[in-house]
Amino acid sequence: MSGSAASAGAPGRIVLATHNPHKVEEFGAIVTATRPDLEVVGYDGPEPVEDGVTFAANALIKARAAAEHTGMPSMADDSGICVDALGGAPGAFSAYWAGHRKDAVANRDLLIDQLSDIGDPHRTAQFVSVIALVTPGGAEHVVEGVWPGRLAVAAAGEGGFGYDPVFIPDGQQAGVERTVGEWSAAEKYADSHRTRAFRALVPLLGGL
Ligand code: IMP
Repeated sequence: MSGSAASAGAPGRIVLATHNPHKVEEFGAIVTATRPDLEVVGYDGPEPVEDGVTFAANALIKARAAAEHTGMPSMADDSGICVDALGGAPGAFSAYWAGHRKDAVANRDLLIDQLSDIGDPHRTAQFVSVIALVTPGGAEHVVEGVWPGRLAVAAAGEGGFGYDPVFIPDGQQAGVERTVGEWSAAEKYADSHRTRAFRALVPLLGGL
């Protein structure tokens, strides 16, 4: 993440519409690794009501609000965890799964409790990130990144945020698998759902 004040129309700059410091840090690392020439500036304008029921709807609400407020190309991510045995829930309700107070520990404890009778083969889940890019001219793009894995039976690790301590990504060596809470930030940022979504966005960034 670099830059601070969003000045209208400057080339090579894009607004990141989030007030979540974890996402700011993660996007900063992802953009620097993928498009080091692109300056990402923060957004401190009004936060719109996220009343969509899908990741795409909420990502578009946030990106449109930022584009309108700043007059600059703006991107926003909406993300969460989707559990197959729960038909894709919590999904877009991940931040509020245990109630409106947005308590990350209560959210993941409830999810693990709900899956307590479900055996390993059926604990499959995905982290999903949908990024919307909206330009002041009204062009809109929506991309998705999916990070497959499964739910742990108990939280492990202090790293990351949200559901990281209960999510075990696929592709790890059997017997020594770790939750994302036990991964370093660099390991997560190299592989995450947001990284995957941003990679899909890169070709659409065109002349930015
Ligand atoms: P959003 O800020 O409305 O997109 O809500 C995202 C919510 O999904 C967060 O509050 C977390 O509960 C969950 N989430 C999204 N991405 C991650 C991640 O990378 N790690 C852990 N939890 C995540």
